[in-house]
Amino acid sequence: MKAAAIIVAAGRGERAGGPLPKQYAPIGGKPALRWSIEAFAAHPAFEAIVLVIDPAHEAHFRAAAAGLDCQIVPGGAVRSASVQAGLEALRSSAPDLVFIHDAARPGLDANMLDALIRALGSHHGAAPALRVADALKRADGQFVHEDVSRDGLVRVQTPQAFRYAAIREAFQALTPEAQVDDDVAVARAAGYAIALVPGAASLAKITYPEDFALVERLISPATLIPLVGHGIDAHQFTEGDFVTLCGVRIAHSQALLGHSDADAGWHALTDAILGAIGEGDIGDHFPPTDPKWRGADSEQFLRHALHLMEQAGGRLAHCDITIVCERPRVKPHREAMRSRTAEVTGLALARVNVKATTTEEMGFTGRREGILATATATVLVPG
Ligand code: MG
Repeated sequence: MKAAAIIVAAGRGERAGGPLPKQYAPIGGKPALRWSIEAFAAHPAFEAIVLVIDPAHEAHFRAAAAGLDCQIVPGGAVRSASVQAGLEALRSSAPDLVFIHDAARPGLDANMLDALIRALGSHHGAAPALRVADALKRADGQFVHEDVSRDGLVRVQTPQAFRYAAIREAFQALTPEAQVDDDVAVARAAGYAIALVPGAASLAKITYPEDFALVERLISPATLIPLVGHGIDAHQFTEGDFVTLCGVRIAHSQALLGHSDADAGWHALTDAILGAIGEGDIGDHFPPTDPKWRGADSEQFLRHALHLMEQAGGRLAHCDITIVCERPRVKPHREAMRSRTAEVTGLALARVNVKATTTEEMGFTGRREGILATATATVLVPG
C-alpha cells in the first residue's frame, strides 16, 4: 500500500499570537510543522508528503522544513480548497491512501499512523477520536442557553485518513455552498462510512497561546517518563465449548467461568494499564456485583482503561501478555490474539507481545482447573 500525506499549513494561525504563524513557531525545540513532516517521513508506508502553504510564508517554510523531502503547493481561500489542491498535486503519483493532517498538531507518531493504515484495510476513511469528558453547553459567551448531551459525541482529530480515489472523488463532488468543517465531513457527504480509532491526548491542536506549553509537555520526549504496570488474572474452567483470550474465541472442551466473558488475557492487560496510571484495579471500575457486566465483552474494560490513560495524558508504548495453561493450546492463536490486542490498543504489532506457557502439570493450571494470565504495560506520561 502506497500512502501519501497532505499537511495543511496554509492558515494564518493568528489566534495563537506570537511573531510567527503558529505552524512555524518553535515547540519542543523545533518548528511545530516539522514534527509532523518528520513523523510521516520516518514511516515506511509514506512515499510522498505534500505541504499546502500560504505562498507568503515560503521563507518560514524553507527554514522549518530544511533537509526534509516534501513538495509544496499553494493553499486556497478556504481549508477545503487547500486540501483539494493537495489532492490534485498527488494525482500523477496516485497513492492508495492519503492522510490529511493539520500542521498545528505536532504530536503525531508511528502508532497512530499504523492504527489508521490498519483501519483503511476495511474502510474508506478513518480518523482518531477522543471521548468528550467536559459538560457541554450552548452559550452566547456570557450565559448558558442550553445543556447539550455528550452522549455519542466524540472529538475528532487529524490525521484523517482515506483511500485516495474515494476522497478525491468526494472533494470533486463537493458543492461550493456545502458547509464542511473537516475532511471526514466531505467523505461523509459523498456517502462513505468513516471508522474511528482511539485518539491521543498528544495530538492536541495548538490554537491559543496557552496551548504551546500544554502541547509541548505532551510531545517533547524529554518530558515523557515510562511507567510500567503489571496485571494478573485467573478464571476457572466450567462446562462449555470455547474460551475467549485476548478477544479471540478459541474452541475448547470447557469454558471459563466469570461474570464477564472471563477473558483472563485482557483482564490482566486492563489491570496492567490501570496499574501504570495508579487507577486501582478492574474490580474498582467494573464491580463483579454489578449485573450490568454479566457476560460483558472485555474489550470495553480494556477500552475504559485506555481512555483513563489518555485522559491522564498517557500513551501506551508496549504491552506483553503471558497465558498460562495446559489446554487449550494457545500457540496457534497467538498471532490472532496479538493483532486483536494491537487493534484495540492502537499499538503497532511490534509493540504487542503474546506468550503462552504451561506449569509442567503443576498447580491449578497444571491440573487443568483454569487459566492464568499475566501482563505488563508500559505507559508514557508527561513527566
Ligand atoms: Mg478476570
